[in-house]
Amino acid sequence: MTEEHCIFCEIISGAIPAAVVYEDDGTIAFLDMMPVNKGHALVVPKKHSRNIFDASHETLAYLMPVAQKIARAVQKGTGAEGINIHMNNEPAAGQAVFHIHIHVIPRFHKDGITMWKGRPYLDGEMQRLASQIKTALR
Ligand code: 5GP
Ligand code: ZN
Repeated sequence: MTEEHCIFCEIISGAIPAAVVYEDDGTIAFLDMMPVNKGHALVVPKKHSRNIFDASHETLAYLMPVAQKIARAVQKGTGAEGINIHMNNEPAAGQAVFHIHIHVIPRFHKDGITMWKGRPYLDGEMQRLASQIKTALR
């Protein structure tokens, strides 16, 4: 299914070029044009969905094994000492392209990339949040 004005659907259809490293019936992986580290790849299901919230179980179930395959290849191909697997969902979380994708980011000791920092809960806050989330699961 191709969504109009979706840059990743256009890469999937071949309408715009990309440095494709892997493709099968359901998935494509290509290099991010603005890599966090060189070799940073994106794993993209061919069927358009927006992100984690609307993707089907079928899409999600296939995505992670392919991400593992690409992670191993990026590790070997770049000599990475570690890999971050990352997904942005909605603008507040940094999503800029609204076609679900997983970032596979090669990492090196002392590569200067800093991850987000944890912040402590106030008294009782953690239990309250756990309870709100448990209720939302019902
Ligand atoms: P998001 O923030 O949505 O998770 O990440 C989208 C990623 O797609 C960004 O890291 C951005 O550099 C990459 N990107 C956006 N447009 C293109 C494109 O046309 N080609 C390639 N190869 N990467 C793109
Ligand atoms: Zn799309």
